[in-house]
Amino acid sequence: MGIRLKNGDQVCIVGGGPAGSFAALHLLRLARKANLDLQVLIFERRNFSTPGPAGCNRCAGVLSSRLLHGLETLGLSLPAEVVQASIHAYTVYLDGEPTSVEQPDPGRGIVSVYRGGGPRLSPNGPVASFDRFLLDQAIESGAQLIPRFVRRITWEGRPIVMISGKSYPADLLVLATGINGRSPLDRAFGYQPPPTQIMAQDEVLRPPEWPDNRVSAYFRDPPGLTFGALIPKGDYLNISLLGRGLSTEAVAEFLEAQGLAASLLPGSLCGCTPRIAVGSARGFYGDRWVAVGDAAVTRLYKDGIGSAYHTAQRAMQVAVGEGIAAADFRRGFLPLCKSISRDNSYGRRLFNLWALTLRSARLLQAWRRATQSEARLNPEGRIHARVLWGMMTGDEAYRELFWLAVSPRAAMSVMKELWQPRD
Ligand SMILES: Cc1cc2nc3c(=O)[nH]c(=O)nc-3n(C[C@H](O)[C@H](O)[C@H](O)COP(=O)(O)OP(=O)(O)OC[C@H]3O[C@@H](n4cnc5c(N)ncnc54)[C@H](O)[C@@H]3O)c2cc1C
Repeated sequence: MGIRLKNGDQVCIVGGGPAGSFAALHLLRLARKANLDLQVLIFERRNFSTPGPAGCNRCAGVLSSRLLHGLETLGLSLPAEVVQASIHAYTVYLDGEPTSVEQPDPGRGIVSVYRGGGPRLSPNGPVASFDRFLLDQAIESGAQLIPRFVRRITWEGRPIVMISGKSYPADLLVLATGINGRSPLDRAFGYQPPPTQIMAQDEVLRPPEWPDNRVSAYFRDPPGLTFGALIPKGDYLNISLLGRGLSTEAVAEFLEAQGLAASLLPGSLCGCTPRIAVGSARGFYGDRWVAVGDAAVTRLYKDGIGSAYHTAQRAMQVAVGEGIAAADFRRGFLPLCKSISRDNSYGRRLFNLWALTLRSARLLQAWRRATQSEARLNPEGRIHARVLWGMMTGDEAYRELFWLAVSPRAAMSVMKELWQPRD
C-alpha cells in the first residue's frame, strides 16, 4: 500500500530559503487544486530583513530568465524594490582586454537581487530581500512560519522535527536546509549532503560611472580563480569569486590582481566565504521525506535558485499527485535530479574547455576575434556569445551549450581566426 497525503496532514518544511518557499508555494497550489487541506509549517532561523551575512543566504543574487518565467507561472511578480538591476550584457575581461557579450534575445533578460537586507555596512540602510519576498508569498498562500532553528530531526514511524523545547510530527518532511550548515537529519535517514566548494564574496559601493546593467567577468588572476564577477545591485556592486582554496583575503587579492582596487574605494562593506554545491546529495528521499534545492541537487555554479524552483516543484507534484513513499519519489523525483546531474557533467566539460582556451594565448585571441566578428551577425548567428551568456547566467542547458561550443560552426570560426595572418 502506498502512502498518500490526506486532509489535515502536517507538512514540515525545514529551511525557508528559495527551495523551502517554492516547496510551500507549489504544495499549497497543488493541494488547493486537489481539494486537499494541509497544514504547512516552514521552519526558518534567519530574519532576511537583517543586513549582512546574518540575514542572508549568501549568493551573487542573479535570477536567470528561466527562473523569472517560473515565478510568472506561480503568479508572482517581483516588486520593483526587490529588483536591484536589470542586466543585459556581460563584459568579459581577459588579460585586461574587454569583450562584450550581449543578451542573446529579449526574452532572456536577467535581474539581480539581494537575498537578505543588503550589505552589513550599508550606508543607505537595509534593502528589500528576495528571500523575504518569497517567504511572505508562501505565508500569504497559507504556510505558517516557525522562526526557529531546527536542532534535530528524528524518526518515530514518521519524521519528528525538534526545535528547542518542542517537537512537531511530520506527515511529510521537506528538507530545504541548503548546504551551509550541519544537516539536522538523524543518521537513520541515510542522507549524505552534496560535496561543496568554497566561494568568496563582498560588496562595495558602485562608482557613479559604473554601468548598472552589465556584469563584469574576470578569469585567471589571481592564480586559482575559476571566475570572478562584479554584479551591479542598486547602489552597490557584488563581488563573487569561485576558485580553489579561496581565503578571506581572496576578494582583496582579486581586486588588486585585476587592477580594480583603486576604483572601488572605500572597499569592503560586507564579506563572506559561503559554500556552493558541486555535486548531488545521496539518499535524499525516503518514506515521508524528500530534500529539495541545494540539499538535493543543483545546477553547477549557476542558477541554483532556478534549480531550487524546479526540484521543489517536481517533489511537490509527486507528493500531491503520486504519493509520499520512497518509491513515489524514486519514480517521480529522482529522474529530474539525475537529469540535473547529467547536465552538470556537460557543464564540467564546458568549463574545462574554457580553461583550456584560457591557457593558450593564441587560442584565446582567436576566440576573442571570432566573438567580435560574430557581433555583426543577427542574434541566432552569435554562437560564442550564446555559449558564454548561457554559462554565465545558467539560463540554458549545459548540454546544449557544450554541443554548440564544439559544433563545426564554432570550431571553424575560431580556426579561421587562428590561421588568419595579423599585423
Ligand atoms: C557565492 C555564491 C554565489 C551564488 N550565486 C548565485 C546566483 O547568482 N544565482 C543563483 O541562482 N544561485 C546562486 N548561487 C546558488 C544559490 O545561492 C543556491 O543554489 C540557493 O540559495 C539554494 O537555495 P536553497 O533554498 O536550497 O538553500 P539556501 O538558500 O541555503 O536556504 C536554506 C535555508 O535553510 C535555513 N536553514 C538551514 N538549516 C536550518 C535549520 N536547522 N533550522 C532552520 N532553518 C535552517 C537557512 O537559514 C536558509 O535560509 C550562489 C551560491 C554561492 C555560494
